[in-house]
Amino acid sequence: MSEGEGEGAVEAFRLELRAWLTANFTHDVARAIERWGSDESFDAHRRWNAILVDAGYGAIAWPPEHGGRGAGLRQQLAYQEEMARAGAPGPINAIGVANIAPAIMAYGTEEQQRRFLRPMLRGDEIWCQGMSEPEAGSDLASLRCRAVLDGDHFVIDGQKTWTSNGDRADWCQLYVRTDPEVPKHKGISALLVDMRTPGVEARPIVTMAGDTSFSELFLTAARVPTAALLGPLDEGWNVATTTLSNERAGVASLALNLRRKFDRLVDETDGAGPRDGPARHAVADRYIDARNLELLARRSIGAALSGRPPGAESSVVKLAWSRSEQALAATAVDVTGVAALSGSLAQGLLSSRSLSIAGGTTEVNKNIIGERVLGLPREPRPTRD
Ligand SMILES: Cc1cc2nc3c(=O)[nH]c(=O)nc-3n(C[C@H](O)[C@H](O)[C@H](O)COP(=O)(O)OP(=O)(O)OC[C@H]3O[C@@H](n4cnc5c(N)ncnc54)[C@H](O)[C@@H]3O)c2cc1C
Repeated sequence: MSEGEGEGAVEAFRLELRAWLTANFTHDVARAIERWGSDESFDAHRRWNAILVDAGYGAIAWPPEHGGRGAGLRQQLAYQEEMARAGAPGPINAIGVANIAPAIMAYGTEEQQRRFLRPMLRGDEIWCQGMSEPEAGSDLASLRCRAVLDGDHFVIDGQKTWTSNGDRADWCQLYVRTDPEVPKHKGISALLVDMRTPGVEARPIVTMAGDTSFSELFLTAARVPTAALLGPLDEGWNVATTTLSNERAGVASLALNLRRKFDRLVDETDGAGPRDGPARHAVADRYIDARNLELLARRSIGAALSGRPPGAESSVVKLAWSRSEQALAATAVDVTGVAALSGSLAQGLLSSRSLSIAGGTTEVNKNIIGERVLGLPREPRPTRD
């Protein structure tokens, strides 16, 4: 058990954070952030993020030298519970803090760590992650965006797509092919690219929910210095796959936030008169979903507390979470009726559809569960290497 993980210390931390959130995450701050997808909401979220980080509540699991507290799992859990209780949002650089920063901590030079981590955490610089391409999504190793060494620069040509925050980003963790002659999982490199580099263009994609949270990235003879390389040349696949987030309590926030949305739905529809049978059943099913996710999260955290590394069961959590969020968004619209169709519930319904694609599709996660949890025969892999 790490320092600060005794029951008393964790409870003291919880109370201190709760008091701080009560004083700082005010109704006005919450309301300003609420209209997800709009520029106003993004700016308000960014301001809030900086306040959170300056108070020492940014990424508490990060090591102190990078702006965190080196918090252990119990303290992280208390943190997630208090943040969910207050309804406070996660980091503005969500992918940055969860995925890119751990890669920089594991593979970055001292100069890269010093230069990038703190501004990323504070939201002074917005980051995006350029992995997916029109012909490379689940099969990421098929990526074709090319970087060729030319003296002390890489020259990049290619396209990325579905890049979250691509049009707002200052920096991109870009995965490129640096050696096309070797098997496809080799010959990939990770670069940290300044989005203002000439030849880098982000074109926003309007989603069916009406926001522009994604972009396509076009890279045309974009020259970036070799100092932009993250990790060894041609070993970007390891950078992408072996970097485990040091934020192990994140799974708890999925369950807590789902439960919070469920409770809010019940509160908001309570007293609206008797519901018909199917609606009552749907709400009961959503309660069961929320409870199921809570139990899965507990199991995963229990495993982490006893020192087991995260394994294929994270695919079970991803599947349960995305299905539950989608079902809750649909039930919320069903039980609210016509009034739901013009407000945030309708937007929630539309944007929830992406959850079964983002961060690993449902089908790919089912394959992982089938093979690694249930021990079923492996899927054929005609395209591997
Ligand atoms: C909200 C959101 C945010 C995103 N943010 C980013 C980002 O910031 N950066 C980034 O690089 N990308 C991002 N993506 C892209 C995301 O990573 C890809 O959409 C995802 O990897 C799937 O790739 P694809 O869309 O090319 O679909 P494909 O991989 O082409 O899949 C198409 C269909 O085939 C199925 N399929 C694929 N392979 C298999 C298989 N082996 N077995 C069975 N079925 C299979 C899939 O499940 C899917 O139904 C984001 C996506 C979403 C929805």
